[in-house]
Amino acid sequence: MIVALGGGVGAAKFLRGLSRVIKDEALTVIVNTGDDITIYGLRISPDIDIVIYWLSDTVDKEKGWGIKGDTFHCLHALERFGLESWFRLGDRDMATHIYRTYLRQKGLTPSEITERLVKAFRIQENIKILPMTDEDVETWIVTEEGDMHFQEYLVKRSMKPRVKGVFVKGIERAKPAPEVIETIEQARGIVVCPSNPIISIGPILQVKGIKEALIRTDAKIIAISPLVGGAPLKGPADRLMRGVGLEVSSTEIARLYRDFLDKMVIDEKDAAESLRIESLGIEPVVIDTVMSDDRKAESVAKRVLDLLTT
Ligand code: GDP
Repeated sequence: MIVALGGGVGAAKFLRGLSRVIKDEALTVIVNTGDDITIYGLRISPDIDIVIYWLSDTVDKEKGWGIKGDTFHCLHALERFGLESWFRLGDRDMATHIYRTYLRQKGLTPSEITERLVKAFRIQENIKILPMTDEDVETWIVTEEGDMHFQEYLVKRSMKPRVKGVFVKGIERAKPAPEVIETIEQARGIVVCPSNPIISIGPILQVKGIKEALIRTDAKIIAISPLVGGAPLKGPADRLMRGVGLEVSSTEIARLYRDFLDKMVIDEKDAAESLRIESLGIEPVVIDTVMSDDRKAESVAKRVLDLLTT
């Protein structure tokens, strides 16, 4: 079994490639839930949904999130009541959040709900998706303009406020979701997807016992850097890394994962970082990591699978 740890778009693109080259081998994805938020009473789990939409080929690939061809009638109708509409929820996407909220009210856990969503979206049978925890946690950003939920910082404020820190509300109480630790223990190989190290992988590593399980396991662990040419392709990874006092580089990300990491895949544009990564005791692997289409995502995934075997 292969296990992957990931957040949103970068992870989902890679996982789509992996799902197409992994054949029958089991793949379990442990997904960040720190980005979760409640809007209009609906519980939204952006990273879980992005992974499900990519793996079921329902995603809007241009945007990287949401459902392709979706409309926004409901959101516009809500504006009539004076409600804020900065979080762009499409009509079909909204159905996912209504279903999630309905099941939560019936007493189902996030893991149980995710399992139902995976089935409903007819994702390949050999793929399982696990939220990192069943407890509600939320990533907040400390900025010069005050503390705000990560989604407010990202979407409503378009990453403008200067970042001073990051914290995950409720993480001290968060236990790993069922099967998370066992899955890590049983994996033959583990991939840390090209995801934001601060707000996607960071929260996963803060859930009690997950980092320890990664350190303990005999499985080979490989990370793919989300930086290309020393910068994120999209999103706030650079702003957040800088904000918490880190250098923005794949070397720094390798350093964050050094307690458990065997190999770090970096982009050709960052080949010059190889020596620094090697000096951390981590093997650098230089490839073209830009997954601009399914074929390129498959080729990155194939290379990573080979690296897990050799
Ligand atoms: P975000 O920072 O909130 O968008 O969090 P995500 O965990 O969704 O991570 C987005 C990261 O994925 C960004 O840092 C991107 O640079 C990275 N990413 C997206 N597409 C690719 C890709 O094709 N290759 C690589 N190496 N990274 C990617």
